[in-house]
Amino acid sequence: MKIIVGGGISGLWLGAELSARNIPYCVLERHHLGQGQTRQSRRIAMAGTIMRCLLSNAAPGIAGMPNRWRTALKGEGTVNLSSVQLERDDQLLWSNQSLAANLVGFFASKAMHSRMQRIDPKEEPAFAVGFEGHLYRLSEPVLNLSTLIQGFEQILDGHLYHCEVTRLRSEGGRVIGVETNQGQLDGEVILTAGEGTETLLRESGINQPNMQIRPLAMSVCALKKPIPPVFGHQLGIGSKPKLTISTHTLDDRQYLYLGGQLAEEGVERTDAAQREATEHAVSEALSWLNPEIDTIKIFRVNRAEPATDQGARPDSAFTHAFPGGFICWPTKLALAPQLADLLIPQLTSTGPCLYPAWPKATRGDYPWASQ
Ligand SMILES: Cc1cc2nc3c(=O)[nH]c(=O)nc-3n(C[C@H](O)[C@H](O)[C@H](O)COP(=O)(O)OP(=O)(O)OC[C@H]3O[C@@H](n4cnc5c(N)ncnc54)[C@H](O)[C@@H]3O)c2cc1C
Repeated sequence: MKIIVGGGISGLWLGAELSARNIPYCVLERHHLGQGQTRQSRRIAMAGTIMRCLLSNAAPGIAGMPNRWRTALKGEGTVNLSSVQLERDDQLLWSNQSLAANLVGFFASKAMHSRMQRIDPKEEPAFAVGFEGHLYRLSEPVLNLSTLIQGFEQILDGHLYHCEVTRLRSEGGRVIGVETNQGQLDGEVILTAGEGTETLLRESGINQPNMQIRPLAMSVCALKKPIPPVFGHQLGIGSKPKLTISTHTLDDRQYLYLGGQLAEEGVERTDAAQREATEHAVSEALSWLNPEIDTIKIFRVNRAEPATDQGARPDSAFTHAFPGGFICWPTKLALAPQLADLLIPQLTSTGPCLYPAWPKATRGDYPWASQ
C-alpha cells in the first residue's frame, strides 16, 4: 500500500496516477481536500510557470506541463480531468502605458510568440472601454479549482480518508507506516503534506532535506458593484507580475483575489498598510474600470518548498527518498504532473493491502472565503 499524506494537488494527482496503474494507495487528509496551498493558488494554474519560462531560464520539462494539463483536461492520458471546468481557456497580460512596462510587454511577446498574442482591447469586455496600454492573450487555461478538486474526488473515490498523521512509524531505521488519529496504517509513505511535511519529518527524526517557506500577503477585495471578469497579470518593470488578479463570485458578491508583487511586498507590511497598498494597486491596475472596493481582507499564506540557496524559488518539482518513503513538493500547482513523473519510477512493488474503515475526506471551500 502507498500511503499518500496530504490531499492537495500533489497527493491528488499522484493518487490519480496510481489509480490508473492499479497500484493500491490511500490519501490521508487532515482537513478538507485541496484546502492547503492548492485552493489558495490564484486559479491561474500555468501562469506562474509560464511567466518564469518567459522571463528567466526555467528547468527542462516545465515547458511541457501546459500540454500535460491540456491532455488531462481533454480526458486523454492517465489522469482524466474532463469534468473540470475552465474559468477561461486563456489569460490576459497587460501593461498600462509607461516606457518600462511596455518594454517588458514587448519582450514577453517575443519570448512567447507561440503562446502569446497581442490583441485589440475591444475584444475583451474588461478592457474594451477606456483602457490605454498593451494587451496580450496568453494561451494558458485558468482552472475552476472547485471542479478540479471535485474531479479528483471522483477519480480517487474509495481511497480518500479524513485523518491526521501524527507521526511516521519506523522499525530498524526504516519507515514502515504512519500513526494517525484514527489508527495505524502500514505501507510505503509518500509525504505530500505541503507545509505539514516538515513537522512530520522532524518529529520522526528525519533531518534532511530542509523546507523553506515563502510567505505571501494576498488581498481579497469585496466589490460594491461587479466589474467584467478579469483573469490575468498586470506587467510592471520587474520580472514578476506587478499584480495578479482573478475575479470570484460567491453568494452574489464579486471579489478580487490579488497576488503578484503586491502580495510579496505585503509580507513586510502591517494589514492596515497592505490594505492601503491594495487600494492603490487596484485603482492603478484597473483605473478605467473604476472598481469600487467595499472591504479588503488580508490573507497571509506560505508557499512550502524544498530549501534553496538564499531562499530563491525552486525551478522544478522535488522528490527525495528516505528509507521507507518519499518527500514531495511540487513547488507549483502546475508542476504536479512533473512531480508524479519523478516519483512513480522510484516506487517499489507493493504487497497485499488492507483498506481502513476510516471517515472519508471531502472537499472544502476557498480558505480565504471562510475566514
Ligand atoms: C497564494 C498562493 C498562490 C499560488 N498561485 C499559484 C499559481 O497561480 N499557479 C501555480 O502553479 N501554483 C501556485 N501556487 C503554488 C501551489 O498552490 C502549490 O505549489 C501547490 O498547491 C502545493 O500543493 P501540495 O499538494 O504540495 O500542498 P498543499 O496544497 O498545501 O496540500 C497539503 C495538504 O496536506 C495536508 N496535511 C498537512 N499535514 C498533514 C498531516 N499531518 N496529516 C494529514 N494531512 C496533512 C494539508 O491539510 C493540505 O491539504 C500558489 C501558492 C500560494 C500559497
